[in-house]
Amino acid sequence: DLAARASVRRSDEIGDLATAFNLMAAKLEERLLAEKEMLANVSHELRTPLARARVVLETAKEDPARSASLLREISHDLSDLERLTDDVLATIRLDFEGAASRGLRLRPEDVDLPDVVRHSIARIVEAHPDRDVELDAPEAVPSLRGDPALLLRLFDNLLDNARKYSSGTVSVHVREERRELVVEIRDRGIGIEQSDLERIFEPFFRTDRSRQRATGGTGLGLALCRRIVDVHRGTIAASSSGGEGTTVIVRLPLA
Ligand code: ADP
Repeated sequence: DLAARASVRRSDEIGDLATAFNLMAAKLEERLLAEKEMLANVSHELRTPLARARVVLETAKEDPARSASLLREISHDLSDLERLTDDVLATIRLDFEGAASRGLRLRPEDVDLPDVVRHSIARIVEAHPDRDVELDAPEAVPSLRGDPALLLRLFDNLLDNARKYSSGTVSVHVREERRELVVEIRDRGIGIEQSDLERIFEPFFRTDRSRQRATGGTGLGLALCRRIVDVHRGTIAASSSGGEGTTVIVRLPLA
């Protein structure tokens, strides 16, 4: 029972130990609560497309003439489910690796970051040929120790958000600053309220503005991005001023 508290009121080593123990117990409790909340959220998010698919399936049974279009709807729901389970699994894996081995079980390699960014841009433009992504990157930068697959996923998520929540050109800027590589992803889309700028990195958080759009999303993408950046000992932050779109800045330390 984590609620049990050591109660030693002596200002000696045992007292210090008891304080340390109580702190640890409180942290663990907080962590368990967060995990329960995550589980409840995941279950809810899984049920929504499942329930929808079931209703559509029942309709299709009764109305075979519409079955082709109904099957397409089910296919959308299945894609939502796939994306959600992928994101949940990746989040859990990173949590586990981060906590258990401080990220040492990553597969670190020398990574050319502008190359990863270029690769990610090529993928987004291939999937959405109507969208423009500008890249401004130096010819050569020092290579970074990191996991190329995770870094690709990071930029895939960020670029996909910039695309989803805007309609114009997305610009990406890579630069070396002191002992860091900095990547800025800027869109001129719907933007984010100041009070939401930190919350968007929480699992399942979606802003009211984005809920009003039929973009679909799990609210896990940026939580995953933050974990990927964390295991690379970097930082990620978003800024947005008065409906002027959004800029996400990733800073990754060089070895
Ligand atoms: P989602 O799957 O909903 O896109 P994310 O975790 O990637 O989830 O993002 C969380 C929320 O942050 C989004 O639902 C959206 O409200 C907001 N957001 C993320 N990127 C942007 C952006 N470029 N412009 C505006 N809002 C954004």
